[in-house]
Amino acid sequence: MEKRKVPFFNYQALFAQHEQEFIGLITDVCRRGAYILQRDLQEFESSLASFIGAKHVIGVADGTNALSIGLLAMGIGAGDEVIVPSHTYIASASSIHSVGAVPVLADCGADHLIDPSSVETLITRKTKAIMPVHLNGRTCTMDPLLVLAAKYGLQIIEDAAQAVGSRYNGQYAGTFGSIGTYSFYPAKILGCFGDGGAVVTNSDVLAEKVAQLHDHGRNKDGLVVCWGTNSRLDNLQAAILSWKLKSLNQTLERRRAIARRYHDGLSVIDDLTLPPAPREPDEKDGHFDVYQNYELESGRRDSLRAYLQEQGIGTLIQWGGRAVHQFKELGFKGSHLPATERLFQRCFMLPMHNALSDADVDYVIECVQGFYKV
Ligand SMILES: *Cc1c(COP(=O)(O)O)cnc(C)c1O
Repeated sequence: MEKRKVPFFNYQALFAQHEQEFIGLITDVCRRGAYILQRDLQEFESSLASFIGAKHVIGVADGTNALSIGLLAMGIGAGDEVIVPSHTYIASASSIHSVGAVPVLADCGADHLIDPSSVETLITRKTKAIMPVHLNGRTCTMDPLLVLAAKYGLQIIEDAAQAVGSRYNGQYAGTFGSIGTYSFYPAKILGCFGDGGAVVTNSDVLAEKVAQLHDHGRNKDGLVVCWGTNSRLDNLQAAILSWKLKSLNQTLERRRAIARRYHDGLSVIDDLTLPPAPREPDEKDGHFDVYQNYELESGRRDSLRAYLQEQGIGTLIQWGGRAVHQFKELGFKGSHLPATERLFQRCFMLPMHNALSDADVDYVIECVQGFYKV
């Protein structure tokens, strides 16, 4: 087997695939001097809204701002608690902290996503909302969470930073709750050339509030009607995102084909726990996963990762290897989340991006098989 390099991610290769188109887009926007709140942004917001079947999309500065502005618009603040999984990026929890509310950390289930039974045990009189996080391009199983929200009168704000295009029972991630949020961080499935994010909602009232909050509290006439901030999505980034959105379905299909290839090659290895395989094309219900990450589990994780590194293959553990409640400096001393703690001794991610060739994927598979001597 010929040795090759398969980096965990490859920004340069992804740019090179469409360099001329990108330069053309940037030149066009700059020649028009169209930088802030311009046509390309409006076009992107409305095409993303129709793609996911939502009424409103508002571009914001990044996925973290999308969450904090969403929480503010929902009226969440001091004295409130919001339940969020501990297996998430710190941004989910810090957005809650930033509006003065308290993030309460839930355990995860076998699918690595928020466990509804853990959520129910954490609900108190102060709980105002649940923040499901659709990690790894998989929409949480929303039914039990929607049942809990209705039973206890809670709102839902979805962190769909990793799940643009993912669906559950035909409905897009980000469109189940009062508010959903996306991130266009460069390594995300729909990534721009810097920071970017969006807020999604079907509510006219929330959309108007978010629009004001992200542009200095100004209304449509430019008059200041509340305190706000500057958190706008650059028009230049929106132009790039609009262009990428046109081929998003192909992007997702390629990721799903890579996941299928990994699944077929690795499911023979007993020590590995793989993410669910992509559902068959004729299946309509259930999960439509888009594989922002290929996060798997191994009982020999650390030696497997070291071996793959020697073979030229980059792997990563999410969040630097720690769930949110394990960052001791943040003061979550009491939390004991057994499923999350076990997962963080076992989980890591294989390369998953749109510059991977089938030969790259096969090389990764052969090396993992080589480690296990299959
Ligand atoms: C990337 C990410 C965010 C935040 O996105 P930024 O655009 O980097 O602010 C939030 N939550 C999750 C789960 C993410 O992966």
